Amino acid sequence: MEEYDIIIIGAGPGGLTAGLYAGRGGSKTLILDKGLTGGTGLMVPSMENYPGFDLIDGMSLVAKMKSQSEKNADIHEMEGVEKIDRVDGGFVLTTPKDKYFAKSIILATGTTHRKLGVPGENHFTGLGVSYCATCDGMLFKDKDVLMIGGGNSALQEAIYLDNLGCNVTVVHRRNEFRAEIYLQNKLKEKGIPIILDSVVEEIKGNQLVESVILSNKKEGSTHEVHVQGVFVAIGDIPASDLAKELGVNVNKYNQIITDKNQRTNVDNVYAIGDVTGGVKQWVVACAEGAVAATYAYQDLEQTKKREQ
Ligand code: NAP
Repeated sequence: MEEYDIIIIGAGPGGLTAGLYAGRGGSKTLILDKGLTGGTGLMVPSMENYPGFDLIDGMSLVAKMKSQSEKNADIHEMEGVEKIDRVDGGFVLTTPKDKYFAKSIILATGTTHRKLGVPGENHFTGLGVSYCATCDGMLFKDKDVLMIGGGNSALQEAIYLDNLGCNVTVVHRRNEFRAEIYLQNKLKEKGIPIILDSVVEEIKGNQLVESVILSNKKEGSTHEVHVQGVFVAIGDIPASDLAKELGVNVNKYNQIITDKNQRTNVDNVYAIGDVTGGVKQWVVACAEGAVAATYAYQDLEQTKKREQ
């Protein structure tokens, strides 16, 4: 069994930064991810608020971060952690491929997409329903699509789809957006149509999506909109199951609770990024990654000194 000082679970922006700091600090470090490096970060169509870049897309920034991190840490993609057992002096992590020993763990597991939970959603996923404009947008060029949601993701992705040449309409359940004002202004400037106070009741079609039943909550009316695509961006669910199995405390939203040094209630287990809630921004996840790696190292050093 290969032994590491620090194993980071999740290779998103936070996990990659933690790997960079841990490796540079002299810790033997492994980053494991059940998918590809970057996680949901790969789906971000454009960013204008990552320091140092006026405009960059998620895929390009992930590629830069990965190349920097892999000089300092091992990165195993497509290798999800199935189980973590506490053992003397650390933890044993089991993946479908192997077992690894770690003295410390940094949880950077991020979030998964929230679903609408309406008839037709699961059936038409991949057949017109998508949770990733960056991945699937091009398939809907010149086609009519709905973007469901009123947060930063929904508006950012609607603007991206419009830029690709999709005929996108935003559907939001309230009469005001949660998204930042600069995105709301951009939406207006582009003249992207908006349907407010409305929710999706059903997604219909034959082989592919053909229409959506919307209900207007204010008027109590329903109507059918003919579209070929439905993009859903209605927030996220923290991926904290593994943490909970390990005895890590979470709040009522299932977000991992940490102190300001990213320590959880379990010794030598730290958590960073979107799975901890708070301000869900790349720059925050990266900063938390740096903090967690630094304290993980310091805590191990203290233990070493105590044992000498
Ligand atoms: P979010 O901020 O939680 O917004 C989710 C949106 O979906 C809200 O408008 C919400 O409506 C709506 N919604 C939730 N459940 C729904 C349902 N069942 N049916 C219909 N609508 C529903 O999620 P997000 O936009 O994915 O953003 C997630 C986090 O990432 C946020 O913290 C966000 O700030 C951050 N982010 C930042 C940027 C950036 O660069 N600034 C970009 C993307 C994401 P209500 O408003 O009525 O609750």
